[in-house]
Amino acid sequence: MSEGPWSFFQDLIVIMQETKGMDEPRSLNFNEVSFWVQCHNVPLSFSNKNILENIGAHIGLVEEVDQGESGSYLGSHIRIQVRLDIRKPLNKFVCVGVEDEEDVFILLTYERIPNLCYRCGVIGHSFRTCGEASEKNDKLKYGIWMKS
Ligand SMILES: [Zn+2]
Repeated sequence: MSEGPWSFFQDLIVIMQETKGMDEPRSLNFNEVSFWVQCHNVPLSFSNKNILENIGAHIGLVEEVDQGESGSYLGSHIRIQVRLDIRKPLNKFVCVGVEDEEDVFILLTYERIPNLCYRCGVIGHSFRTCGEASEKNDKLKYGIWMKS
């Protein structure tokens, strides 16, 4: 459970959360999976666990922030482990407003995501089988660059 997400032939394996023996099967949640998200373009002044947790909260439910080899939340990118609702499209970026400065766009890539739809951004199917309507020459909004 700690080293996921797992996939089998590009299909995501959703592992239920730890349960208690008396939980009803209907109450189990199969819609959320933990992913490591890489945050790129993070300003040096954001190298702080609380700030990074706030950024992660815009992506999903924060489980862990990787402090990196130096232990100071610095590096070419910052890794945040978040629990995501896999029924929703992945975020491509987080926009952070900074007082007296231009907004900062933190670009996101996802580690070990299988079978991402490049049309609607939802995990679990390809753009060829996407149910979202497409027009003849529409451009895909997501791409392989979403994968770390
Ligand atoms: Zn789709």
